[in-house]
Amino acid sequence: MTTKKTTTSTELRRCIGSTTFGIEPHEAPIADFPVQPSRKDGLGLMCRPHWTAYTRALRLAAKARKTVQAEGETLADATIAREAKRARKPRAVDPEVAAAETLIAEVDALPGPEHIERVGDPDV
Ligand SMILES: [Zn+2]
Repeated sequence: MTTKKTTTSTELRRCIGSTTFGIEPHEAPIADFPVQPSRKDGLGLMCRPHWTAYTRALRLAAKARKTVQAEGETLADATIAREAKRARKPRAVDPEVAAAETLIAEVDALPGPEHIERVGDPDV
């Protein structure tokens, strides 16, 4: 009677790699996979060197994201300040302002004496 004993070191397992971080999926000996008790089969999805590379890349990405976010917030603050400044002097979007500007233009277009008279009117 022969016992089929497979040694774990020769069994291969698929390392899923990471397309995000340019880690190619490949087959690696099971012994190369980190133990991950939370997983159904108790082993990691990636071989140890790739897992290390992946977690390091994740940390760096998170750090980079934080930096970008911080820079983005500073940028957003500047944009908000700029927008607020712009909002204080409304452009001809406001119909009331547009009407007033038309009136002013009309009054300005009037000849001298009439202009002076018109400027004195309460609606100008
Ligand atoms: Zn791998």
